Amino acid sequence: MPEKGLKDIWDFLQEKKEILIASHRNPDGDALGSSLAMWHYLKRKGHRVSVAVPSPYPDDFQWMEGIDEVMIFDEDEKQVTEKIKNADLFIFLDFNHISRIDKMGEEIEKQEKPVLLIDHHLDPDLSYPYYYVKPGASSTADLVFDVLTWWEGTSYIEDPVITTCLYTGIITDTGTFAYNTSSHLFEKLTRMLRSSIDHIALQNRINHNMTEKQLKLLGYCLYHRMEVLPELQTGIIFLTKNDYSKFDIQRGDTEGIVNHILKMKNIEVAAFFTQQPTIVKISFRSVGDFNVAALAEEHFNGGGHKNAAGGSHFKGLKSAIQLFKEILPEFINKHKQTNE
Ligand code: 5GP
Ligand code: MN
Repeated sequence: MPEKGLKDIWDFLQEKKEILIASHRNPDGDALGSSLAMWHYLKRKGHRVSVAVPSPYPDDFQWMEGIDEVMIFDEDEKQVTEKIKNADLFIFLDFNHISRIDKMGEEIEKQEKPVLLIDHHLDPDLSYPYYYVKPGASSTADLVFDVLTWWEGTSYIEDPVITTCLYTGIITDTGTFAYNTSSHLFEKLTRMLRSSIDHIALQNRINHNMTEKQLKLLGYCLYHRMEVLPELQTGIIFLTKNDYSKFDIQRGDTEGIVNHILKMKNIEVAAFFTQQPTIVKISFRSVGDFNVAALAEEHFNGGGHKNAAGGSHFKGLKSAIQLFKEILPEFINKHKQTNE
């Protein structure tokens, strides 16, 4: 770790290639931002490039340049499979293991073509011939910045189309520069700003774009669906199937709700349970050394980052919340011990 074969990939890219960029299910600003930045770059170099994700992205990102080119495997399996078959190289962005892209991953594995993995999640799969991975980095966009800078030098990065994509990924994954930042990251952001992107406009576009329905849903969650466990420094929010139909909740409407729990004084762990048609999906957040990725992996078939993770549960909403409450004291004790 963290790098293998980036120079070899650079050599490989000296001839025109057919490349498929893949990112994770329920793509967020970092998945889209890092993928589109790489897409713009490779296209400019004359390659034939496509981007594919397993499931649709939120409408909120419709303004991003190139987004209409992003293919969705669940909606257009045939077209994506065709692109997969023709690819000379796959670039995996913003996920640590091929299982995170489900059936699309199975199609890719059949091809036995090289993969470049660029990611910032914990436990990246290092069996690929080429990778650049930094668990704990702010975002995958941050790492794409590094790779493009190594390949091209700094001037390339001062292109507003590419930097807007990268900046979007960094804003979304750092809560607008609130966590996972470093002096290095701010140096990179300064360089991006030199490309004359409009920070205020971009930040507003990403953060101040809730619909009335989304804001009301947030209010409902905080007022009617939140439980605070002060002795465990934990807050929980849940949404039932009924809530989903009552509010006509669509993809993206619940984005970010979990983060509000951590705004409370003395709360260090947050969990958000949503009752989906067949499974319960859970988002975890934490502050400091509470490793919610480990909790998600051990008990909820999931994973992610130390302070932001997710998983699923297959036995219903009540059972998911009960399990969380059962394992929490031990998890917190373990955390306390490791900090002593
Ligand atoms: P979110 O709560 O925003 O959906 O996800 C937070 C983080 O947890 C993301 O980095 C995401 O990749 C990871 N994550 C969410 N759900 C899952 C899951 O089911 N499995 C794994 N391995 N990671 C997940
Ligand atoms: Mn990310």
